[in-house]
Amino acid sequence: MVRELTHFIDGQHVSGTSGVFGEVFDPNTGQVQARVPLASADEIEAAIANAAAAQPVWAAFNPQKRARVMMKFLTLVNEEIDSLAALLSAEHGKTIADAKGDIQRGLEVIEFAVGIPHLLKGEYTESAGTGIDVYSMRQPLGVVAGITPFNFPAMIPLWKAGPALACGNAFVLKPSERDPSVPLRLAELFLEAGLPPGVFNVVNGGKEAVDTILRDDRIKAVGFVGSTPIAQYIYETATANGKRAQCFGGAKNHAIVMPDADLDDVADQLIGAGYGSAGERCMAISVAVPVGQETADRLVAKLTERVHKLNVGRSDDPGADFGPLVGRDGVDRVNSYVQIGVDEGAELVVDGRGLVVEGAEDGYFVGASLFDNVTPDMRIYQEEIFGPVVTVVRAGDYEQALRLADEHEYGNGVAIFTRDGDIARDFATRVQVGMVGINVPIPVPIAYYTFGGWKRSGFGDLNQHGPDSIRFYTKTKTVTQRWPAAPAKTNAFVIPTMD
Ligand code: NAD
Repeated sequence: MVRELTHFIDGQHVSGTSGVFGEVFDPNTGQVQARVPLASADEIEAAIANAAAAQPVWAAFNPQKRARVMMKFLTLVNEEIDSLAALLSAEHGKTIADAKGDIQRGLEVIEFAVGIPHLLKGEYTESAGTGIDVYSMRQPLGVVAGITPFNFPAMIPLWKAGPALACGNAFVLKPSERDPSVPLRLAELFLEAGLPPGVFNVVNGGKEAVDTILRDDRIKAVGFVGSTPIAQYIYETATANGKRAQCFGGAKNHAIVMPDADLDDVADQLIGAGYGSAGERCMAISVAVPVGQETADRLVAKLTERVHKLNVGRSDDPGADFGPLVGRDGVDRVNSYVQIGVDEGAELVVDGRGLVVEGAEDGYFVGASLFDNVTPDMRIYQEEIFGPVVTVVRAGDYEQALRLADEHEYGNGVAIFTRDGDIARDFATRVQVGMVGINVPIPVPIAYYTFGGWKRSGFGDLNQHGPDSIRFYTKTKTVTQRWPAAPAKTNAFVIPTMD
């Protein structure tokens, strides 16, 4: 049976009225499992109007009360994490264990947001001038929006909404139309946790919905995560319309492997980081850079052995290392990049194309591919494939390896594997990438630090979650006060100074 999905506006499920629908597929079977309404401009505007009406009610909750709503939400999500993970996995195609990780990493930012009474504290300077005190406060922006990708349908909406809501904003989420059921359930749970109706809204849609958000004056900030061309478009359009924007894009994450690294450990880690979630992670390692020919030969041999043992299966198969891609277009894209690599002259050590999973022959499966002797001029090195493909680029020395990561147009994550503290420190200091792992393959920062890529992986000044998120979702007001007991001593016609 094909489920009919809705929007979630003003605390209720609302059927779509545009007459335009997207299809949500079951990646394990290739069958349509749900229809999702794609909102018209009128529908989005109605949601924004609702959010604008609800926001002052929510902003009037004191910070401690807002924190209590977040705490209750944590409890509710944790109580049903198994069924949420199953729902997420069934639409996305990642394994159920990985789907739980997706939810858990989102909840960690809600845990951070529980600290909002402390995080919102302003500054105070007593007697900044004679009888004059100065203080600052952080106030919510109003209505803010999140536009999120398919690959983390719980984590990224929560990264955006958690801090935004805790700061007293109302939120309009436009999730990916490929896997919208988990965001819709999260909206119900926010309501159950005590969030007033209209404060968190989910409106499904495509370009028309997004463009309406970008144009509407009532939306004060836009947080986006997705591919780089759309990130750039959203950043430029939102800021041209006077909004704050933070837009995170694609990636090509390198792992530099020094000759002194424990290569068995490195190979184990790279297999998970490169092929986990079928490579559909913005922090996936897609480029391994062994330093020196001997390191490269040994690493490729160890990776090859492990890639052959990978178990690709249905997302609900507990024995699967990774499941299907989210859609047929993903399979076509990955297959075509593998062919491009072959045509460019890279050495295809393991070919993952044409994989058939027994009993799930129509699913969007593709096996793991491994390329050796990839060079920086090749498209399979330069472009984001977003699938289970790892490319090995051999570097002659450390400086050449560092240059590769530095000169790549993306700068999301990077890792170095070494036992040499001097090299590791030098690398962390000099590399032109936003998130660095030292013997850690997927260095997604913990919730109370910030997450954000450099170069064409991120547009905007402030990162996601951590202290930056509080700055992004609030505006600072600074008050300078004097009471009559301290008479003004200045000439009213001269600009005041703090003498
Ligand atoms: P996408 O860019 O196709 O879609 C992201 C969002 O933008 C969706 O909500 C989609 O509906 C909307 N959208 C798509 N086309 C649009 C258009 N023309 N105009 C306006 N809105 C549009 O990305 P995706 O395929 O859902 O996600 C995968 C991409 O996201 C990869 O490139 C991955 O690297 C990136 N990603 C980046 C991060 C990060 O933090 N840097 C995290 C996760 C994913």
